[in-house]
Amino acid sequence: MNIEKLNLNPNHHILVTGGAGFIGSNICESLLKNGNKVTCLDNFATGKEENINHLLDHTNFTLLRGDIRNLEDCHTACKNVDYIMHQAALGSVPRSINDPITSNAVNVSGFLNMLVAARDANVKRFVYAASSSTYGDSESLPKVEDKIGRPLSPYAITKFVNELYADIFSKTYGLETVGLRYFNVFGRKQDPKGAYAAVIPKFVMQFMKHESPTINGDGSYSRDFTYIDNVIEMNVRSIVTENKEAVNTVYNVAFGERTDLNELIGLLKENLSKFDPKIKDVEIRYGTTRQGDVPHSLASIDKAKELLGYNPQYNIKSGLEEAVNWYWDNLKE
Ligand code: NAD
Repeated sequence: MNIEKLNLNPNHHILVTGGAGFIGSNICESLLKNGNKVTCLDNFATGKEENINHLLDHTNFTLLRGDIRNLEDCHTACKNVDYIMHQAALGSVPRSINDPITSNAVNVSGFLNMLVAARDANVKRFVYAASSSTYGDSESLPKVEDKIGRPLSPYAITKFVNELYADIFSKTYGLETVGLRYFNVFGRKQDPKGAYAAVIPKFVMQFMKHESPTINGDGSYSRDFTYIDNVIEMNVRSIVTENKEAVNTVYNVAFGERTDLNELIGLLKENLSKFDPKIKDVEIRYGTTRQGDVPHSLASIDKAKELLGYNPQYNIKSGLEEAVNWYWDNLKE
């Protein structure tokens, strides 16, 4: 994504934790294109060399292999950094149900280490990946930032704790923070493989192989699917803003429309059939609903629009078209 129009000063040095992951590597790429100096801290737990290999020779890019569970690594990464975009975490609700201890160690203790290191390095602002899972069992739609429910998974707890710690660090130590509650992000480089793969890349990959995707439930569950470039926009806007009322708070990061899984399947088939007409005939399977899944998710993006000037450029249709083109060009075997 070209972030030039967002007026991010190219002289800023920005640390992207989790910079070898799906969202982090896309952020690194955009920042480098803007002329920024970028440090990426990653332990490659779920991140991939291939996401950042093409950046390694860039004079403004530094890769630090390290673990946010290690405070020393966090201190090293924060040296001479102006801003942080903290993406490193173990994602996935099912992963956290299978192994809550590791999710907590990375997402809570690792997060706290990063806050301490950011504070000690006098970093100007700490922008971090929060999550829509923080809305938990709240049934109200659309989701508005100050109205959350009780968490439905260990992962959701970790992401909520992040917000609590960030709030305390801004109040206690004066560290400026911005939390971004991402809603089901999708786009280029999102990993289609593995037990914890997200639904869009997983289904795309299965369709490309003419394998039947399985929907958990009857397909009526809906999500506010958010294209990666909208997420990059919000990360940059969170740093650029000089409005003091816009910081030390959290924002929904979404498009503001919901799509159910049956509709999603229809859109994926439509896009993929342009490359391979046989995909239209691939059958869909229906399984049981998954533990910890909320039936519907839809964000209000009014707060981000009002305080940060958020103006998402991609809806699900235009985002899926971009994403499917990328998967076809890069992953078709
Ligand atoms: P990802 O798994 O592709 O990226 C996470 C990155 O963090 C990986 O590169 C991984 O190797 C790194 N990492 C994990 N543990 C680490 C550790 N101990 N030390 C250093 N690096 C570590 O996932 P993503 O989808 O890019 O998610 C990025 C962030 O956004 C995460 O914080 C996630 O919780 C959050 N988020 C994502 C979504 C989504 O839909 N993808 C939704 C809500 C929130």
